[in-house]
Amino acid sequence: MTPIAFEGDATALQVAERVRGGTLAPLAAAQAALARVRETEKARGLNAFVSVAAPDELVCTHHAGSLAGVPVAVKDNLATTILPTSCGSRILEGYVSPFVATAVRRILEAGGVVVGKTNMDEFAMGSSTENSAYGPTRNPVDPLRVPGGSSGGSAAAVAAGMVPVALGSDTGGSVRQPAAFCGVVGVKPTYGRVSRYGLVAFASSLDQVGVLARTAGDAAETLRVVSGQDPRDATSSPRSVPDFSAAVSKGVEGMVVGLPDEYFPDTLDPHIRDRVLAAAHALRDAGASIRTVSLPHTRLAIPSYYVLAPAEASSNLSRFDGVRFGRRGPGSTTREVYESTRHDGFGTEVKRRIVLGTYALSAGYHDAYYETAQRARALIAEDFRAVFGEGVDLLLTPTTPGVAFPIGERVDDPVAMYLSDIFTVTANLAGIPGMSVPIGTHDGLPVGGQFLAPWWMEETMFAAAGVLEAAGMGEPS
Ligand code: GLN
Repeated sequence: MTPIAFEGDATALQVAERVRGGTLAPLAAAQAALARVRETEKARGLNAFVSVAAPDELVCTHHAGSLAGVPVAVKDNLATTILPTSCGSRILEGYVSPFVATAVRRILEAGGVVVGKTNMDEFAMGSSTENSAYGPTRNPVDPLRVPGGSSGGSAAAVAAGMVPVALGSDTGGSVRQPAAFCGVVGVKPTYGRVSRYGLVAFASSLDQVGVLARTAGDAAETLRVVSGQDPRDATSSPRSVPDFSAAVSKGVEGMVVGLPDEYFPDTLDPHIRDRVLAAAHALRDAGASIRTVSLPHTRLAIPSYYVLAPAEASSNLSRFDGVRFGRRGPGSTTREVYESTRHDGFGTEVKRRIVLGTYALSAGYHDAYYETAQRARALIAEDFRAVFGEGVDLLLTPTTPGVAFPIGERVDDPVAMYLSDIFTVTANLAGIPGMSVPIGTHDGLPVGGQFLAPWWMEETMFAAAGVLEAAGMGEPS
C-alpha cells in the first residue's frame, strides 16, 4: 500500500475512513503524529507529553475499526503496558503497569494507535498542569499561559495538532477546563458510562475517563468506543451505549436550553458572558428555546468538593507506600521507608490534599465535614433533578470564570486555583455528563461554553455541540 501524505489537521474520522478504504497505511497517521510531537516539542517546548512511543511500539490491531489508524494520546494516569504510567508524580517515576486500562484497551480494539502519555497535575490534582513533577505544560495558544488541568497535556497535544484525540480524566473539571483554555472539545460522560478500571484512582466517586478532540464528531466516536459496561469496574453501567456520532447532526429543534443564574455571577468575565449568550442565540436560531433557571445550591459545590475529593484521595493514595508500586525511599524500618518514600515522592499539592482529607475523615470531625459535604452533594444533585424534571433538556453555562491564566499566577494561592473549577465540579458531584465546546475567543484566548445534561443524555450535548460547530461558534471572535 502506498502511504499517502498525512496532514496534521485531519480529523480522527477522516483518518479512520482512509485507513478502512485502503488509501492510508494503518500506521501512517501515527508515524506522522510522532514526527509532529518531536518537531512541535523541539520548536515550542510545550511539554505536553511525558513519554512517547518508539516507532516500533506503534500498533494498529484492527484495520477495519472505527478508529483505525487514529493516533491517540493518553493521560498518564491511565494504565498502559508499553509506556510508564507515572501520574505526573515522582513516586511512580518509570512505573510500568502489568495491565491496560479498559478505556485504552477499547481504543486499541477499535484500531486506535497510542502514541504517547500526556503530562498532568500530579495524581490529577490541579487546574493548570503546574503540579506535575515533570514540569508545567504550556498552552499552545499562548505559551506563557497554562493549558488548564489536570488533563493539560492531553488538551495541549490536541490543540497543537499533534494528535486528533486524547483521553483525559475528569474528577472536578479536568477534561472540560483544559479543553476550554486550549480551544478544543472536552467531554466528561455520566458517572458509570466509562469503566474506571486502570484509571489511577483520585476520588473514586467523582472520577470519570473523558475525551478531548478538535471536533464534536471525533469526541463522539471516541467516547462511544470507550463506553460500556466492564466486569472489572462494578460502577460501570450495563446501559446500552447510544450512537453518539449520529447525535452530532441531530440538531436542536424543540430543545429547551436552560441558563442557570448561579453560573453567571457578577464576577464572571463580561467577555465570557457575551460569548455564552452568543452561543445561546445560535441554539435559539437553530430551533431551541432558551429559559433562565436556578440551581440554588451551586454555592455549596466548591466547599463540598474540596472536602470529599481530598477525603477519597487520602484513602486512595495510601497504597503508594514504597512497597507495592514505583519508587522506594531509604529507611531501616517499615515506617521509615513509608515516610521517606512519601516525603520525597509526593509534591506539595498532593500532600495538602492528603492532610485535608485525613483531617476531614478523622474521628470527631467526620460528622462536621464529611457528612455535611455529603448532604450538600445530595442537594446539588437534587437541583439538577428538579430543573431537568421541569422540561429542561440541557443547561448552557460558561466552562470557566476566566480565560487561561499566566503560568505562575496561582501556584501560591491554592484557593484561587480551586476556584477555576467553580462551574465544573457540580457535574461530578451529581454524576451528570458535561461537555466544553469552543465558543470563540477573547483577546485571542479561547473561551469555552459548557453543556450539562441529564444522567445518560450525552446525546443531547453532542447535538447542541454539532449545531454550534456548524454555526462557526468556535472560530476566533
Ligand atoms: N482541579 C480539580 C482538582 O484539583 C479537579 C481535578 C480533576 O478533575 N482531576 O481537584
